[in-house]
Amino acid sequence: MKVHHLNCGTMTPPAAPRMVAHCLLLETERDLVLVDTGFALGEDRLEAAFLRTARPSLDPAESAVRQLQDLGLDPEDVRHIVLTHLDPDHAGGLRDFPHARVHVHAAELAAATRPGGGVAQRHRYLPAQWAHGPDWAPYDDAGEELYGLRARPLDGVEGVALVPLAGHSRGHSGVAVDTGDGWLLHAGDAYWFHGELSAPSHCPLTLRLAQRLVAVDHTQRLANVARLRELPEQIQVFSAHDAAELTRYTG
Ligand SMILES: [Zn+2]
Repeated sequence: MKVHHLNCGTMTPPAAPRMVAHCLLLETERDLVLVDTGFALGEDRLEAAFLRTARPSLDPAESAVRQLQDLGLDPEDVRHIVLTHLDPDHAGGLRDFPHARVHVHAAELAAATRPGGGVAQRHRYLPAQWAHGPDWAPYDDAGEELYGLRARPLDGVEGVALVPLAGHSRGHSGVAVDTGDGWLLHAGDAYWFHGELSAPSHCPLTLRLAQRLVAVDHTQRLANVARLRELPEQIQVFSAHDAAELTRYTG
């Protein structure tokens, strides 16, 4: 399996480090698999509050579909998309791959398509991002043990598993990838800053507060970070938005 690490959406929130939308493009023997999608090409559906707080660059050259084409690949060969969750900076690119099956945790799909709870949860998702009616493949919490985590192998996608890490959102999950040369764990928004996995952990104040604000279960999110911190070196962990982590792979 060939693994590409892509930034599908730079964001420059006020008084915080620059953020990326770290996505994976997997070239398997059979087809192409995307892990998270970043923003769509020509994204024009974001709400004013999101634009103000995340300040996304929305550079067409950063869209997953453009980057695939730049690699000489055909977007129609993307048969599967695996999502950590359905926030606008992760699910935006769905419309650029309308033929893909979309694998996601069932609790996340329910939260995004039948929103309840408080005002913040009702307003976090953008239903327009899946108005084209994707072929959803939802999963529950059942799975196999993977370094103390629970990993649910995906139907029809060899070597990729969903790892439930609810807290940031209701059905937020990591995505584990068996590259044939070791495991990767895309931890999504389980944390935003690499220092959170260090001992002692550290994180800029603005990012600490923002994560607390958006988390559906702050305590659970912190418990997840503690579990990720304990993972052995054999599994490479990175999050969706940390630019320094992405640089480890892209130079
Ligand atoms: Zn995010």
